Amino acid sequence: MYDVIIIGAGPAGLSCARHLKGLKVLVLEKNDSLGKKICSGEISPKVLPDEQFDRGHPWKSITIGTETGKKTVYFENPFLWTVGRYEFENYLMKSCDAEIHFSETVKHITPTYVETSKGKYYYKHLVGADGSFSIVRNYLKLPMKHITGWAYHYVLDVPCSEFSLCWLPKTFPKSYGYVMSKSRKQTMLGLAWTGEFDQAIAAKAKDWAMKEFSIKNYIKLEAMKGNADYRGWKFGNIYLAGDAGGFLNPLTTEGIYYAITSGEGIAKHILRKPEGEKIMKSLESAHRWQVLMFDLATKSPFCWIINWILEDPRKGIRRKIFNWVLWKFMKG
Ligand SMILES: Cc1cc2nc3c(=O)[nH]c(=O)nc-3n(C[C@H](O)[C@H](O)[C@H](O)COP(=O)(O)OP(=O)(O)OC[C@H]3O[C@@H](n4cnc5c(N)ncnc54)[C@H](O)[C@@H]3O)c2cc1C
Repeated sequence: MYDVIIIGAGPAGLSCARHLKGLKVLVLEKNDSLGKKICSGEISPKVLPDEQFDRGHPWKSITIGTETGKKTVYFENPFLWTVGRYEFENYLMKSCDAEIHFSETVKHITPTYVETSKGKYYYKHLVGADGSFSIVRNYLKLPMKHITGWAYHYVLDVPCSEFSLCWLPKTFPKSYGYVMSKSRKQTMLGLAWTGEFDQAIAAKAKDWAMKEFSIKNYIKLEAMKGNADYRGWKFGNIYLAGDAGGFLNPLTTEGIYYAITSGEGIAKHILRKPEGEKIMKSLESAHRWQVLMFDLATKSPFCWIINWILEDPRKGIRRKIFNWVLWKFMKG
């Protein structure tokens, strides 16, 4: 019998595990190693600000594309760093004393145990930190609708040379194009959109990215779902953290911070520390605000106000608004 079983060794699961020292904890991970999530692996200044670790490549400029062209905005300090998922998750794992089983997919959940192809494991508390295709969320019968989305991109085998976002509401409503790192050595270029995976959008996105970024050689195309449909974190002795809980910020698609913070909050709640509830309440209210902003941003006329700001966010009032919003999101 384990005090806590955590499904998923991503940022949410590992963060939860590292805050549960002293309890008998088992982490079950379906992949054979860490860091396999399709992600850009970038962290903002609010991620573990008091901890000393190599945060990776700093990003001090952002290129914004709109229907009328591209503009680059420069800052004195980094708003993001490319650490890469493998490195970041290894850093989190080093401070865990939980038992971690790789290559063990949880296939079946009951109120007292979970089952993989290798065995049955009994739990007192179960944490679903298993991402946007969560089996735990499914077991709890929670819907996943508002807001979910997909990212679809080319992967290039070269380090990323620019951080770029494209806002094209006429061509791709409720979407944005991106150039971001995949790791310190690779780049991903594509489109993120709200809603279900759609072959027609994917095909259009593929053509658009190929032309827009003059892609000649790529190693693969990948697609991944994100979940920002938050419906609660505590269901008796079962909890949902990170993307399984829908904590992803739908506006920026930043999820690592929300994953590690929800993992920490749930761990502290299990340990009966009042700080746990506090962390979860503040995540809940931040999420409510992000969803409201997202709904406004994707609806006219707000969509066109954003367009006006992004057409040239380099000086004047547009720069002030752009800076305020960006740093509010990055610093928290
Ligand atoms: C293309 C893309 C780019 C992104 N870029 C960024 C970024 O740069 N910065 C950022 O902050 N956020 C980014 N995000 C969001 C971020 O990836 C997620 O919010 C974050 O990974 C959530 O962490 P998690 O631990 O909740 O889930 P995950 O990272 O998805 O981890 C879940 C883990 O559970 C495991 N698992 C799933 N099912 C089972 C099962 N049945 N049994 C056992 N194990 C299981 C998975 O293998 C996985 O390891 C991006 C998302 C996408 C789609």
